[in-house]
Formats: sequence, C-alpha cells, structure tokens
Amino acid sequence: MQKIIIAIDGFSACGKSTTAKEAAKALGYRYIDSGAMYRAVTHYFLEHHIALTNPKEVAKALNDIKITFHVNANGVSETYLNGLNVEKKIRKMRISENVSPVSAIKEVRVAMVEQQRKLGKEGGIVMDGRDIGTVVFPDADLKVFLTADMFVRAARRQQELLEKGELVELDAILANLKKRDEIDSTRAESPVRRADEAIEIDTTNITIEEQVDELVRLAFSRMLVA
Ligand code: C5P
Repeated sequence: MQKIIIAIDGFSACGKSTTAKEAAKALGYRYIDSGAMYRAVTHYFLEHHIALTNPKEVAKALNDIKITFHVNANGVSETYLNGLNVEKKIRKMRISENVSPVSAIKEVRVAMVEQQRKLGKEGGIVMDGRDIGTVVFPDADLKVFLTADMFVRAARRQQELLEKGELVELDAILANLKKRDEIDSTRAESPVRRADEAIEIDTTNITIEEQVDELVRLAFSRMLVA
C-alpha cells in the first residue's frame, strides 16, 4: 500500500502529539513532532542568549543548530539538539513561555520547514504542528485539524507536566495557552490556520483511543486512493 503523508495541526494540548504518535505506531509510520523542533531552537536561543531582534545572531545560531530524533529503548522518539538529548528540557514551562516569539521569526521557520520537508519526503510519516497541512506539506494525503475546549486543554497539559515532575498552577497554564494561541494565530509568518480540506476533530469529549482509531481509519481510506 502507498506510504502517505499525514499532517495533523491544531493548537497546543488538543491531543495532537499523543494521537499522532499512537497512529504512527499503528500504521508502522514515522512520527515527527515539529513543535519539538521549535522548542529545541528556543532552548538553544535561551542557553546562548540570542537576541531575537538581531538577524545576524539568529542566522548564526540557526547555522549552528542541528536537530535530530532518535527512538529510545522504549520505542519513544526523543529530540536531540547538536547530539544531546534535550527531550526533558524542552517540555518545561520555561520553554513554553518563550517558544512562540521564537517560532514567529521568519528565518527560524524557513530553517525548520526545510528540515521538516526533508524528513517527510519519502512518505510514511505522521507530522504534527501548526502549519503542516498549510505550509510544510500542502499536498499531504490526509490533513486533520484538532480542537478542544480551553479548560480541557489546560487540564491535560497540567497532567502531562505533573507526569514529568513539574507542578504548575492551572491558571498559569491557561494564561500560557491563551498567549501562545494568540501569538501563533496572529503572527505574520504561517499563522495557525485549518487547511480548507482538513478534517476537523473536536477532542474535548473523546478518548485518546477514539482519536487514534479515527485517524487510522482515515489514513487507511486515503491509502486506498493514493
Ligand atoms: O506543539 P507544541 O505546543 O510543542 O509547539 C510549541 C510551539 O512551537 C507552538 O506554540 C508554536 O509557537 C510553535 N510551532 C510552530 N509551528 C509548528 C509547530 C509548533 O510555530 N509547526
């Protein structure tokens, strides 16, 4: 069967990465978390005190950044920045608080989109993010746009952070999600937008299993016509 490209977009904590990861496993596809790439860039910029308003510094930093993904012993894909595993670091609130202004920079987007296209060009991929169906793979075989109620999103993110050992107040998470939604959807470069042909799934009242089943079902129907 044809190996297709599956693009999953939507705002933070709508269930994109969990659904994408599980569906990729079920299909025997590769999962790429494009948000992790913007998070890794943000981590580098913070560590190296890169001034976001200085194009020269930004260009040099982007030149020095290499992001890769490696599957660990438990079969989970982890993010590496210049050969170092940064998976835990990039999930912290500190990165969430700084990532949106970084990912709004045109040069950052150009560099990441180029890498994302390379990673996906062979097909057999599930990639999640904000602009995958609109900019990275406008010809993706299947495009899905996930949404969810804001309080459900915040509660899910709080649980995720807790599982990673970080206790954050719900109000702080709500404020962060709202701020990121606003920056991500109003920026000049590739604002978050549902592609016209994307299938919208509201995940507020459905389980992860139901989301994954639906995605896998949609994927098989697209493979048959690809
Ligand atoms: O998906 P996640 O919440 O980890 O993404 C972190 C941030 O990366 C988003 O808030 C957004 O600013 C940025 N991002 C993006 N384009 C993507 C994926 C993520 O701008 N394709």
